[in-house]
This record gives sequence, structure tokens and C-alpha cells, in this order.
Amino acid sequence: MLIKEVRFYDDNKVHDIYVENGIIRCIDCQGKKDDYVFYGKKRLLIPPFVNPHSHLGYALTLNYGSVNESGTLREGVIKTREEITPKITFDDIEKRLKKLEKLFFVNGVLYVRSHEIMPLIFYVLEARKKLELINLQIVAFPSPGIFYFEDTIEKMEKALSEGAEVVGLIPNQEPTVELGIESVKIAFDLALKYNKMVDGHIDENDDPNSRFVEYVTYEALKRKWGEKTTISHMTASHSYPSDYFGKLVDLMKLAKVNVISNPVVSTHLQGRYDNYPKRRGIARIRDMLKSGINVALGTDNIGDLIYPLGDGNMLRVLQEAFLVDHFTSKDIEGMLKLVTYNPAKILMLDDYGIKPGRKAEFVVLNAKNEYEAIRNILPPALVVSGENIAENEIEFKINDKDVTGEIENLLDSDF
Ligand SMILES: [Zn+2]
Repeated sequence: MLIKEVRFYDDNKVHDIYVENGIIRCIDCQGKKDDYVFYGKKRLLIPPFVNPHSHLGYALTLNYGSVNESGTLREGVIKTREEITPKITFDDIEKRLKKLEKLFFVNGVLYVRSHEIMPLIFYVLEARKKLELINLQIVAFPSPGIFYFEDTIEKMEKALSEGAEVVGLIPNQEPTVELGIESVKIAFDLALKYNKMVDGHIDENDDPNSRFVEYVTYEALKRKWGEKTTISHMTASHSYPSDYFGKLVDLMKLAKVNVISNPVVSTHLQGRYDNYPKRRGIARIRDMLKSGINVALGTDNIGDLIYPLGDGNMLRVLQEAFLVDHFTSKDIEGMLKLVTYNPAKILMLDDYGIKPGRKAEFVVLNAKNEYEAIRNILPPALVVSGENIAENEIEFKINDKDVTGEIENLLDSDF
């Protein structure tokens, strides 16, 4: 496979890549020929997208139950547990996972982390063995909380010993604040016992008094587990007083914990209990990035009772963060890292990035640079994972004249 004239994100220079048997053999080597040649037209080539937060076990089940009338997370979670989960079988999960991996693959997402609730996690652990296009990391997610059902910890331990890579938690949903704090300790006990990462649904609400990020962060600091710990959502930070937020960010930096925000779904779910004006309810992504915290973005739910829309387009997620968290044009440079290198660090992917000798895993965007990619949010022109290839070449024509380059790159003076 020969990939010609692509602009590398890392050095902003145009290169060719030669791939043999799914491995990157060399970059800019001379005289290579192949039956498959892709002409990049100087478009941007990046390492694969990483989607670090999703719920695949019940993704695409929107039509399995009744409507989420209030649009709240609470109604979505209750109806998913009571109406949807009992209807889900292994075959059903297997079928939906195969569909989802295609959706992710054509969008250039090759790595996904999914939080799986206890009744479904064992199906997902089994069904992921059949996946061929994406790598799936699984979180043992004790929704609605560790303390609601007697056998939750037992099931989590079973899932962790059967291959789940991450311990989940949701302290702000536990019956009391004290039990929420207790659940944080239990999650870290499990993580250390089984040598697993931690990724929790932490303070996913609009409550300025929801303060579990500090407990999780301090526990991570104490146990020297910060780089393996991720605070997902943290939407309450939108409503924290700024002096408290500043102190919290200092502690997070000290502990080296990571953050994942899911701006599309959080914009949909948060602010639901507000009258006008309604808060935006997403984590303070820009502030945390500026403080040096490793922040990544995920899709969260896709086509279920918690979020009825959704797809695998990580550029859409990035654009939503830009909009809702008030980024400016000055903040765009480096933003693609929020859906590539930053989540790769969270998932602890060792062989991530484009280098000779590594498995060929890369994406050619339908854009010449980072700005145009985030502005036009088109699916990628080419996705490569080993010997698997997805092509989504887009053509815009007016009276038979090809205007694709112009439409994809509105601010590019070459056109
Ligand atoms: Zn979630």
C-alpha cells in the first residue's frame, strides 16, 4: 500500500508512506510500487482517533423502550435499567457491536473505551473477541452505584478478572455522601488489587456542591495512581465557584489525574433542571488544558435513551467543545490532540503514533489542516488499520466541475 503526498500532523510536512502486510515499512522511501496507491493531495494525516468514553452495551437501543420524556440523565438511566437491559441478549449485543465497530472505523476511530453496567458487561467481554476493526477497552461500571445491589462488588471483581481493563465508579449517585466517599476507596482498592486503571463518572450533574472530584483526586495522589486515573464528565465544575475550581485544579495537577469531557451529550443532558437562563453544563475544558491537565474528549452515548443522536465523528465532538466551552481561533492549534494523543495517553496505548516498524494505523482527513478539519467536520478520506482500509472520498460538484478542494478548505488561498 502506497500513500502519497499526505501532510503529517506532527511535523506539518508532506510525506509518502509505504505499508507492507499491514506494517509501516518506510516513510519517504524511493522506488516503491504497489497495486494500491492512495493520493493524499496534501491533506492532513493523523494517528487514529481514540474515543475514550462510550456505553456500547446499550448503544443503538433507542427503539427498544419508551421515550425519555424529560430528556434528563436520571430518566434515561432508570428506563435503560428497567426497560432496555432486560431485553438485551448476547446475540443482540454482538450484532450491535459489529455495527458500531463499522461506524467507528469509517470515522477513523480505532480505539474505544466503554463503560459497561454489571448485567451487560459479561456479554460485552465475550462479544469483543469477535471485533476485527477496533480495539475496545472495557470499564467495570457499577451503575447506579456500588451500594444499591448486594452483589455489585462481586460482579466487578469477576469482570476485572475476566479481562475488564478499568475500574469504574459513580460516587455522586451513591445513596449518601459518606457512601460516595466509601465507594471511591473501594474502587481504588480494586484497582490496586487487580492492577487496573480507574475511570469514574464523577460529578456528572449541575450541582455546585457535588465535590467528588477532590476525593478521587486525593485518593489517586495518596496511592500514586494518578496517571492511571481518569475523571470522566466533571460537569459540576461548570457551576463551581472559580476560587474553589482553582484549588481543585492545583490538586489535580499534583496528582496527575486525567479528565474526559463528553461535550455533545453533556450539552444535551445538563441544564435540564434549570429555568432560563440554562447552564451549559460541561467540564471547564479550556481552563484545565491551560493548567496543563491531560484532557480528552469522548462521544458518550450513541442512539439510546440517554442521548438519542450521536455517531463516531470525533471532529463533531471537538467542534462542540470549541462552541460550548468558548474556545477562540487562537486555541485551535493542537486541538486535534484532544481526540488523538491525549486519550491515547489515558488508555495507556504503548504503540500509538506513526513510525516505521509499527502497525499501519492512520487517518487522512478531508481537510488540508487542523483548522479546516475542525471547521468542516467531514468524515476522513482514508482510514487504515493494518490491512483494513475504509475510503470515504467526498466529491462536491457544480455543473460537473469538481469544487471539492475549495469546499473542504474554505480559507486555503491555493484555491
Ligand atoms: Zn458516561
